[in-house]
Amino acid sequence: MPTKTFSFEFFPPQTPEGIERLRATRRQLAQLKPTFFSVTFGAGGSTRDRTIGTILEICAEGQQAAPHLSCIASSKTVAREMLERYHASGVKRVVALRGDLPSGLVDPGEFRYANELVAFIRGEFGDAFHIEVAAYPEYHPQARTAQDDLANFKRKVEAGADSAITQYFYNADAYFAFVDECQAQGIDIPIVPGIMPINKFSQLARFSDSCGAEIPRWIRRKLEGFGDDTASIRSFGLDVVTQLCDQLIRGGAPGLHFYTLNQAGPASVIWQRLGLS
Ligand SMILES: Cc1cc2nc3c(=O)[nH]c(=O)nc-3n(C[C@H](O)[C@H](O)[C@H](O)COP(=O)(O)OP(=O)(O)OC[C@H]3O[C@@H](n4cnc5c(N)ncnc54)[C@H](O)[C@@H]3O)c2cc1C
Repeated sequence: MPTKTFSFEFFPPQTPEGIERLRATRRQLAQLKPTFFSVTFGAGGSTRDRTIGTILEICAEGQQAAPHLSCIASSKTVAREMLERYHASGVKRVVALRGDLPSGLVDPGEFRYANELVAFIRGEFGDAFHIEVAAYPEYHPQARTAQDDLANFKRKVEAGADSAITQYFYNADAYFAFVDECQAQGIDIPIVPGIMPINKFSQLARFSDSCGAEIPRWIRRKLEGFGDDTASIRSFGLDVVTQLCDQLIRGGAPGLHFYTLNQAGPASVIWQRLGLS
């Protein structure tokens, strides 16, 4: 049986305190021996230097680092320079994304969709990088139809993606149905579920609405009912998300990717409850 991939995602911090906090988070999560740590990239290049800086720190700590690269509003020259720098620093995995056009910007740049970035990386760097792409079990909010979105996902795989990480979801059936559909279409790369621990309801609800991730009614109603009681939200959230992860792993998911929001606590607790360490 192939080894499962376990990974943790961070955003690049803005302040010296945030940088220190993330270092402490990484020290804690490194003990779990994940496959890699990934670092997000603000579309339009807004976090460019901070993403590169965080990635280089992770490499220097002896961990596998996977930078996200979102291509909208970017040029081939800029993408090539970043990839060359990563390659020279020993990075072996990248997460290739389109990103969303920052508000106010209208020029999409030289890449329109992630499949074009994947093809560019393969064309320029051969097999130097393991390329991850995004997948959407509940479908991307801008997709015209579910079928279109699947066809577009297939385009990324045909362009050379090695594996995929999903948008988060709380309904395991959506993931398994998506994987079945992919297999029926001849897509056989590993599709690793993205896991979002639940910490704050209002933030999660806002974000879920914008990225098209459904919070099932029973979870939403329970979370709403807890009001400002953060301890109950966290405790319920840990139960729900641990159960989801357990269902996914038992059902054959090829790993888990945690959206940590730079916190070690929730992912570590879920990890321990799953008996992964
Ligand atoms: C694991 C993960 C990590 C992420 N990390 C970041 C990050 O670091 N920074 C960031 O800014 N965002 C990030 N995002 C968000 C992501 O950038 C957005 O969801 C974005 O809207 C779509 O990116 P994509 O790479 O999936 O785009 P694409 O695969 O290009 O798809 C975007 C939309 O266009 C459609 N489409 C694709 N190809 C075509 C085509 N050839 N013709 C017509 N339509 C097409 C698709 O169906 C979809 O609706 C992440 C998402 C995930 C799941």
